Amino acid sequence: MQAGRALALLWCVAARVVRCLRLMFARLGSLPVTDPMERYLTSDHINLQMQVRRFAEEAIAPVARELDETAEFPWENTKRMAEMGLLGVPIPKEFGGLGLDYLSYALVVEELAKFDASHSITVSAHTTLGTSPILAFGTEEQKRRFLPPLASGEVLGGFGLTEPGAGSDSGGTRTRAVREGSNYRINGSKIFITHAGVGEIFVATAVTDPGAGTRGISSFIVCKPTVDLERAERVGWGHRADLPFSEGVSAGEKEDKMGWRASDTRELLFQDVLVPEDHLLGEEGRGFINFMKTLDAGRIGVGALSLGLAAGAFQCALKYVNQREQFGKKVWDFQQVQFRLSDMATEIEAGRHLVYHAAWLKDRGAPFSKEAAMAKLYCSELAMRATLDAIQVMGGAGYTSDYPVERMMRDAKICEIGEGTSEIQRLVIGRHLVAELMTDPIVETSKAGSREAAVVETS
Ligand SMILES: Cc1cc2nc3c(=O)[nH]c(=O)nc-3n(C[C@H](O)[C@H](O)[C@H](O)COP(=O)(O)OP(=O)(O)OC[C@H]3O[C@@H](n4cnc5c(N)ncnc54)[C@H](O)[C@@H]3O)c2cc1C
Repeated sequence: MQAGRALALLWCVAARVVRCLRLMFARLGSLPVTDPMERYLTSDHINLQMQVRRFAEEAIAPVARELDETAEFPWENTKRMAEMGLLGVPIPKEFGGLGLDYLSYALVVEELAKFDASHSITVSAHTTLGTSPILAFGTEEQKRRFLPPLASGEVLGGFGLTEPGAGSDSGGTRTRAVREGSNYRINGSKIFITHAGVGEIFVATAVTDPGAGTRGISSFIVCKPTVDLERAERVGWGHRADLPFSEGVSAGEKEDKMGWRASDTRELLFQDVLVPEDHLLGEEGRGFINFMKTLDAGRIGVGALSLGLAAGAFQCALKYVNQREQFGKKVWDFQQVQFRLSDMATEIEAGRHLVYHAAWLKDRGAPFSKEAAMAKLYCSELAMRATLDAIQVMGGAGYTSDYPVERMMRDAKICEIGEGTSEIQRLVIGRHLVAELMTDPIVETSKAGSREAAVVETS
C-alpha cells in the first residue's frame, strides 16, 4: 500500500513537472501547449488566470466568510477589481475596457468563483448584463457616454428584466413607458435586480406598445445614484456625480438571501420617471429580443461562475481527505471517496469544455445560444452536486463555516435559478434541437414554415 502511494505520488509529481515545463516552453513560443484546454487557452489567458488567482488568494479568500455572514457588499475589493480592469474584460479599449476576448472574461469569472461567488457575480452581472447591452445595441452617443464609466468599473451597472409577474415568462413585463414629447415616462417595478442598490447605470425593459406582445417591449438606459454615497466617498469608488440621474428611480431593501449574500440584490422601482428619448436602447419594440440575446451571453458567465464553484469545492475536498485520517488511514484511501472525487474531477473537466467552447464560439462570431444554455445548465447542476459531494467527503467539518464548501453549496443553488432556471435552459436547448431538425436537409421542405417559427422563438 505504502509503495503504491509513493508510486502514485511520484507519477503525479512527474506529470506536474512535465506540464509546467511544457507551459513554460509554450510561453516562450517554442512548443505547442498540451494542456487539456490547449485548444482554447493561450499564454495570455493563463497569465490572466494567474493574476486573478493571486488577487483572489490575497484579497478575497480572507474576507469571503465574513462578507457572507454580514451580507455586506465588497466595496474595497470591487474597487480593486475595477483597478485591475476586471469590470470591463471583453469591452473594447476605446471604451475603457481591457479589449480581451470573451474566453478571458469567462476565465476571470471562473477564477473568482473558486474563492467567492459573490465577487464573481459582481463582475459577471455588471459585465454581461449591465454593460454589454449598451455595447451591442446602443447608439454611438450612448456608447461614448455610458460605456467608459462602466467598462473602467468606476460605477456598477445592472439589468432590469424580472418583475413580480414576469420571471421565467419575462415577456409578461408590466413596467410601462409612455412617450411624452421627447421623453418617456416610466412606471413599474423590477425585482431581484443585482446591483439595484450599489449600481448607478441600468438597462431595463418597459412596455411601449401594450397591444404588440413581446414586440411591444422596449429597453431604456436609466441612472440613479448609489444607495451609499457616504461609503462611495470613503472608498473613493462607485459614484459619478455627472451621470444623468432621473428623479423617481429608487432601490428597495436588500434581499436576505441563502447564497450570493455579499452580492447586492434589490427591487428597482420606477415612479413617474422621465427619461429623454435618447435613453431608448435599441429600436422601440426590440427590447425583449435584445434582452434575450443578452441572456445568451450571460449564460456563459453563469456557467463559468458555476464551474468555479465546483472546482473550488473540489480542491477544498481533495486537500481535506488527503489530511484527515480515519480507521488508521487517510480518508482519500477509501475507494468510495476516491471514486466520488474522480467523478467530480471528470464532470468539472466536461463542464470546462462546455463553457470554454461556448465562449470560443462567441469569440468567433459563430452561433452560441444552444451551447451557452448547455454550459449554464450542466455547470449549474454540477456546482450543486459537487458542493454537496464536497461536504459529504469532508463529513461534519464540511458542514461548518470553518470551511468554504457549505457557503459554496448555498451559492451554487441560485446558479440553477438566475439568468433562466434549469427548466428554461432545457426549453431553450429543446427549441434549438427542433430548429436543427427542421433545418436538417433530409427533412422535407414543407416544414419550412414551422422551422421559422421555432427559430424566432429561440432568438
Ligand atoms: C440572487 C438573484 C439575482 C438576480 N439577478 C437578476 C438581475 O440582475 N436581473 C434580472 O432581471 N433578474 C434577476 N434575477 C431574477 C432571476 O432571473 C429569476 O428569479 C429567474 O429568471 C426565475 O424567475 P422567478 O424567480 O420568477 O421564478 P418563476 O418563473 O416563478 O419559476 C418558478 C418555477 O417554475 C418553473 N417554470 C416556470 N416556467 C416554466 C416552464 N415554461 N416550463 C417548466 N418550468 C417552468 C421554473 O423553472 C421554476 O422552477 C435574480 C434572481 C436572484 C434570486
